[in-house]
Amino acid sequence: MEQINEAIALLKQYYGYPKFRKGQEQIVTSLLNGYDVIGIMPTGGGKSICYQIPALMLPGVTLVVSPLISLMKDQVDALNQLGIPAAYINSTLDWQEVEQRIRDAMQGKLKLLYVAPERLELGGFRQRMAALNIPLVAVDEAHCVSQWGHDFRPSYANIAPFIDELPQRPLVAAFTATATEEVTEDIARLLRLQTAEAHVTGFGRENLALSVLRGENKRDFVLRYARAHTGRPGIIYAATRREVDELHAHLGKSGIAVGKYHAGLPDSERARSQEAFLYDDIRVMIATNAFGMGIDKSNVRYVIHYNMPKNMESYYQEAGRAGRDGEPSECILLFSAQDIVTQKFLIEQGTQSEDRKLLDYRKLQLMVDYCYTPQCLHSYILQYFGDTIEAKACGECSSCKDERETVDITVEAQKIFSCVRRMGERFGVTLVAGVLKGSRAQRIMQNRFDKLPTHGALNTMTEKAIADLINVLIAEGYLGLTEGQYPTVKLEWPAVDVLKGSASVFQKVSRPERHAAAAAN
Ligand code: ADP
Repeated sequence: MEQINEAIALLKQYYGYPKFRKGQEQIVTSLLNGYDVIGIMPTGGGKSICYQIPALMLPGVTLVVSPLISLMKDQVDALNQLGIPAAYINSTLDWQEVEQRIRDAMQGKLKLLYVAPERLELGGFRQRMAALNIPLVAVDEAHCVSQWGHDFRPSYANIAPFIDELPQRPLVAAFTATATEEVTEDIARLLRLQTAEAHVTGFGRENLALSVLRGENKRDFVLRYARAHTGRPGIIYAATRREVDELHAHLGKSGIAVGKYHAGLPDSERARSQEAFLYDDIRVMIATNAFGMGIDKSNVRYVIHYNMPKNMESYYQEAGRAGRDGEPSECILLFSAQDIVTQKFLIEQGTQSEDRKLLDYRKLQLMVDYCYTPQCLHSYILQYFGDTIEAKACGECSSCKDERETVDITVEAQKIFSCVRRMGERFGVTLVAGVLKGSRAQRIMQNRFDKLPTHGALNTMTEKAIADLINVLIAEGYLGLTEGQYPTVKLEWPAVDVLKGSASVFQKVSRPERHAAAAAN
């Protein structure tokens, strides 16, 4: 208790903040109690303070392993400005400068020393470090140690042996924005963390109003939206360079000040576009996901995804570029079923291992579920990242604001579940929808599915509406999909309760759909 009060006093004194964010306090407390930690928080979540405050409280010098050489100088300058003695060592320095900094550390003149992971390979450097009092090693971008991460760096393998060699084992605090189980487990194992607690925090961004729109005419929507929001900076992400070019021409023709950015453009043009957007000379940026890394524009008022990205990590990172200043901003995802086909194609074309592809398919399905879920989108995201500290319905997303009527669709759901079971749980969404519609397509006839009692059981609905409904039931966990390129639909246990009649299913529907659903009964 006393320690945390001291920590808060330092937070006020050096940074001028009155209190820790919730997750920060947990991480700092764990460290001060002598436990290793894994801090999982998004960029901007406030991880630096989680190790800087303990560094101020612990005797000796805290080592910060960071792969981003370009950012080290900024981080150290910022600390020095706050009056915290810190320095960095990386390949941009000559040996005399390196020596000077190591001497400063030996003489107790530094509280934090930032180093690049490659440096830990050098025997001479390791020896010098062994002579220092290092109470804490903070590892930034810790997912780089894992092959499962998106940014694997072999030099991260040096960290654990380096720590083992120190005469006294320091505390280890690992930080990353990647929250998957595979990566978290790898971090704990490969950095040899001891009784580490993982803290997931900071994923909530209350000022973002999230929405998913299905079945929009995307081109019209984007044009209408950009027109209705002229003067407000926004980013529109499209999946391919060609789509970026087309949209750019489409909006440009309509007199909107648009810029574009993708890897196929010459460096000079990309730099010019980026500048123009940063300084508000153009308001709308149409770009592939190549745009945005390291760009710090705080007043982006909306981010529209013209296509669904490959997973939730990518989506949230891109969407999260809206509203960095904390002002209300919108994140809109325009979903169409074709997006799933595209993403599957990309996974199949990739050169990844089979294991990795399965993982990618699994993540893709959770992205698709986001597009179909009737649950609060904000809560869905927090759950996805495991950030349970902050989860509550936001009241602002397209699910929370969905004012359509809630109707009992138990009978439709039962027909679907029964059909899935009768088809042996061996077929995909499209074929199941076809059977329920009563289609006499070749594959259906070949399998004699026209003889099933559920053949045509939902024949008053369109095949697309049936497929959509199946997707919603998947997103809600009644149905599951097998893994891989051609997933087949299977029943999950909540569906069994519905089939038995011991549970009901409700759905929000707009009027025309309701009539179709009613007619199907
Ligand atoms: P990260 O390293 O996770 O990207 P930073 O540590 O740079 O994030 O923090 C992001 C922003 O949040 C910074 O502007 C920082 O000053 C601010 N911040 C961090 N902790 C707090 C806090 N407890 N109270 C207020 N602002 C904070």
